[in-house]
Amino acid sequence: MLAARSRLPCPVSALSPDSLSTVAVTLAALARSGLPALEARMLVSHATGLSRVQLITQDTYGIDEAVRQQISELAARRLAGEPMAYLLGEREFFGRTFKVTPAVLIPRPDTELLVEQALDRIEDRDAPDVLDMGTGSGIIAITIALARRDARVWATDASADALAVAMGNAQALGATNLRAALGDWYGALAEADAPHAFDLIVSNPPYIAATDEHLGQGDLRFEPASALTDHDDGLRHLRAIVTGAPARLAADGWLLLEHGYDQGEAVRTLLTEAGFADVFTAQDLAGHDRCSGGRRPAA
Ligand code: GLN
Repeated sequence: MLAARSRLPCPVSALSPDSLSTVAVTLAALARSGLPALEARMLVSHATGLSRVQLITQDTYGIDEAVRQQISELAARRLAGEPMAYLLGEREFFGRTFKVTPAVLIPRPDTELLVEQALDRIEDRDAPDVLDMGTGSGIIAITIALARRDARVWATDASADALAVAMGNAQALGATNLRAALGDWYGALAEADAPHAFDLIVSNPPYIAATDEHLGQGDLRFEPASALTDHDDGLRHLRAIVTGAPARLAADGWLLLEHGYDQGEAVRTLLTEAGFADVFTAQDLAGHDRCSGGRRPAA
């Protein structure tokens, strides 16, 4: 048993027999604690550096006491409700891994819809100027910047901690055509040397109403409240973004916004009232209204 284990890439060679634990033993203990199997494998993989395939094919791999302790702390935090993305420090979006911290909203697959719609709208424009307001981890701005290397992308956030996460992700993923500005919505651009008129403005702003019970449930309890809710009716920031957009959009430029499943009609009304043309709403994979937008007419 020990001889077999010593052939495996165990991180600590001088384990005393009492402190020996293996992947299989650790996973069994986590299962008894009530942690779902997938989450247990993700945490063990994260702490040991073993891939999820290796957890199956090398389940006699030795785990030393310090790593076992780290795994049990992560498991306890998970069982207390902390989101997996914060425990692992990362989440996938559009096929790439983004670093996330509790300073930013956890990337949602729903937001891929906004990115796809945005890329469609700038398909025929050369070197488009793009603005992503309230960028958080930077998923929208960075995915657009990487899909369109000719684009000049600006990412803003009112939180310096969030902007640091976004810039770290931009650097790690090689989005060199992205710049950042700190501040509230269009106010962030006041001091920055940003273009006056953008071809595309996108945002996934805080749109959950203060009274929405979801704020007290699941992952949302651990996410920054300022990234989730406007502490109002859910439309306050959406309204501010729509109202300010015509002044910062080029002729025929597009504004695209993510919003709640029940806000499509309200956002279309805001866009129409602000003079936008071609106003539309698109549905996410679950069939919910998730993203609305419009074009600033040429004249
Ligand atoms: N889509 C997120 C949720 O419903 C909210 C994101 C946001 O407010 N921008 O959990």
